[in-house]
Amino acid sequence: MPTTYFLYARKSTDVEDKQVRSIEDQLAVLRALAKQEGLQIAKEFIEKQSAKLPGRPVFNEMLARIERGEAQGILCWKLDRLARNMQDGGTIIEWLLQSTIRHIRTYERGYYPTDNVLLMCVEFGIANQYSLDLSTNTKRGLREKAKRGEYPSLAPVGYINDPRTKSVIIDRKKAEVIKAAFALYAEGNSRLEDMSVFFAKHKFLSKEGNAYHRDRITRILSNPFYCGLFRYAGEVYEGNYTPIVSKQLFGKVQGVLRKKGRPHHRQKNVPKAFCGLLKCDECGMMITAEVQKGHTYYRCTKKGGVHCSQPYVREETLDAQLSATLQEFVMPQEWATELSKLAEKDERETLQSAAVLTQETRAEIQTISQKLQRLLDAYLEQDIEQETYRSEKASLLSRKKSLKENMADLESGSIAWLEPLRGWIKDASMLDAIAESDDLPSKKSSFQKIFGSNLSIRNREIVFSPIPPYASLREARKNFPETGLCTFLVPPAGIEPTSFP
Ligand SMILES: [Zn+2]
Repeated sequence: MPTTYFLYARKSTDVEDKQVRSIEDQLAVLRALAKQEGLQIAKEFIEKQSAKLPGRPVFNEMLARIERGEAQGILCWKLDRLARNMQDGGTIIEWLLQSTIRHIRTYERGYYPTDNVLLMCVEFGIANQYSLDLSTNTKRGLREKAKRGEYPSLAPVGYINDPRTKSVIIDRKKAEVIKAAFALYAEGNSRLEDMSVFFAKHKFLSKEGNAYHRDRITRILSNPFYCGLFRYAGEVYEGNYTPIVSKQLFGKVQGVLRKKGRPHHRQKNVPKAFCGLLKCDECGMMITAEVQKGHTYYRCTKKGGVHCSQPYVREETLDAQLSATLQEFVMPQEWATELSKLAEKDERETLQSAAVLTQETRAEIQTISQKLQRLLDAYLEQDIEQETYRSEKASLLSRKKSLKENMADLESGSIAWLEPLRGWIKDASMLDAIAESDDLPSKKSSFQKIFGSNLSIRNREIVFSPIPPYASLREARKNFPETGLCTFLVPPAGIEPTSFP
């Protein structure tokens, strides 16, 4: 059955629609597009109302008629003509995923049931609504969360952040090692170096694969998180997660640490947290740090043999900038949920089709084995010549080998891409918590994920270029600034649609 389209044109008198083409323009362009691409239009719908809230009469009528099956496609100028709120946008996305809507054609491109939801959310302007909610709610939300005993940041080793419930759960295997380490150290006979060996024996290694440095051991052994207390925004809260060690054991370990002359370490005071993260934008040398009068300062090493005029920057200044920048890369929770759903759907379908393919391949391999047998029989019966036998056999065997290889690939590789995607969703949706926290090492590691080595500093301002998935995410969020700011941020010339990378 060919797809029939509804044409939907909308322009309101609202600020956010100021730069949208007039309804007459939209109609003219879309009719021409329909003609050019042979799209059959069943009806045109015109609306002069804002799409910020659900409840547009014309739009609702169109949806009702799509539900009745009168059309399966929509033609519109841009997705944000259809919806600018979560509810209507969600309906469209859902119907598209269910193939109730089979195709949305905009001036720029087409959207299909298999498309990336993230992109659609963004183009619907849901990002806009989200960013409004985010800015007012995040801070308050995180503090509320802490009061309820939920840790609002990245959990330490031994625990896992569950992105679905946004809670902290025990990583059972690692937790056992941590517990054993506390018990061992409490005996008072081990040096930090011995603990490093102990941890390494249980495969607790740094990212580079080295044994933990003694500073790291101290941080672990003095982190009250493990006995159920956490520090957030300068206050201590009682966590609602399961402690790994008792308060008594924790206290005993603190005693040993003190006796051995290691001061109680607070993460905030770990110096030089951002070392190795930045380069100097002027001369390209690494940025290093030093402590002066209780403050940590970052500066260019100036080892490039050229004159470099870059000044020092204080850690607090750098931290504030880095944290503000991190916020630009936070994946909105709704997107994370939608993307995860989509990934699950993909996984199911891929596994299904892989199973079918594997079955087919197995059947073909069996057929080849039978052919080989028959070929041998024929040869033994002297029905065919040795040369024919050899060449036939060689070609069958080679086919069989490549089928077997295909099967192995199918089984191992079909969903290999999903793990990195899931990791990215998880990382990106936790950035808000990290940005809000005092956890500088976590910030550093987030930055390394987002920028790789493309992070430098010039005149106390960071200069950066993010790697692709984060670049798109930021671009996506940037394209829908808060409503009131639209007129200031968007130059009045831009009526042409923008494209998303
Ligand atoms: Zn420099």
